[in-house]
Amino acid sequence: MDLAELTGVRVARTTDDLVLRPGEAWLGGGSWLYSTPQPHLTGLVDLTGMGWAPTARDDDGALRIAGTCTVAELVAAAATWPAADPATASAAALVRRCADAFLMSSKVWSVATVGGNLCLGLPAGAMITLTAALDGVADLWSPDRGARAVPVVDLVTGPGRTDRAGDELLRGVDVPAAALTARYASRQLALTPVGRSSALVVGRLDADGACTLVVTAATTRPLRLRFPALPGAAEVTDALAGVTTWYDDPHGPADWRAGITPVLAAEVLAELAVTTSSEEVAA
Ligand SMILES: Cc1cc2nc3c(=O)[nH]c(=O)nc-3n(C[C@H](O)[C@H](O)[C@H](O)COP(=O)(O)OP(=O)(O)OC[C@H]3O[C@@H](n4cnc5c(N)ncnc54)[C@H](O)[C@@H]3O)c2cc1C
Repeated sequence: MDLAELTGVRVARTTDDLVLRPGEAWLGGGSWLYSTPQPHLTGLVDLTGMGWAPTARDDDGALRIAGTCTVAELVAAAATWPAADPATASAAALVRRCADAFLMSSKVWSVATVGGNLCLGLPAGAMITLTAALDGVADLWSPDRGARAVPVVDLVTGPGRTDRAGDELLRGVDVPAAALTARYASRQLALTPVGRSSALVVGRLDADGACTLVVTAATTRPLRLRFPALPGAAEVTDALAGVTTWYDDPHGPADWRAGITPVLAAEVLAELAVTTSSEEVAA
């Protein structure tokens, strides 16, 4: 849609351009900004002009995802990881599954950015799910305060709310190398076949046996549970019984989400257990 109140969109190309003027906001892909009226905004600052590489791997294997990396660019990059290191196949598949979890056409996939998804902070933000499961750390920056690092799981504080100050921009997300060689399983539930996620559960098994469960969409903010080893379903159900942040919206009532999440978590654990025992047999 046309944003009638806008008087200008400027393209940021250098750090000097990254100072917001009154009434301005950062522009990622614009898939949300241009989908709904923004009466409080008079200008946008397009971050794609900064020319950040969508993704980059350092010598230790850690991954940097630029705030301006589109969902399509991330999917394309992840598809190449297993060729260089077969141990990344599970993480690469998780990237694809999280991208598929979006209620989006391929047209939106090609413009929507990881930074825009994280900064919007919607419970069904599948890039939030992904980067939280990968132990991603958001690199935030503002001209006054400089840089600060916030784990993605702490960045989103509620539906559409984040720990980001208005003038801060998300430059990128840093993912540790170990997260890329862990094994993953996930389950998603939506009320309709192509509907917005009502619950998305990702399980992760690290090389040392530690297990992490990340729940999004079902809760108002990302929920992360850590276990020293693969837990039983009953242990996870007990842990989830204490959760008070179940989300209530047209995509599902809170009590239903509280009920289905342990079921999805049990399926995730069962899948991780099967892949673990088949690897033991093969060894
Ligand atoms: C058809 C359709 C389906 C959608 N489905 C989903 C869905 O299933 N789940 C979901 O979560 N969302 C969904 N969305 C909402 C939105 O499109 C996505 O969240 C998308 O990832 C936002 O990315 P963007 O780059 O387009 O953000 P933009 O629209 O450019 O920006 C979104 C917000 O983030 C801020 N922002 C953008 N980039 C940065 C940055 N680097 N640093 C700081 N602030 C920044 C902007 O100022 C704005 O407030 C959908 C949208 C459409 C149109």
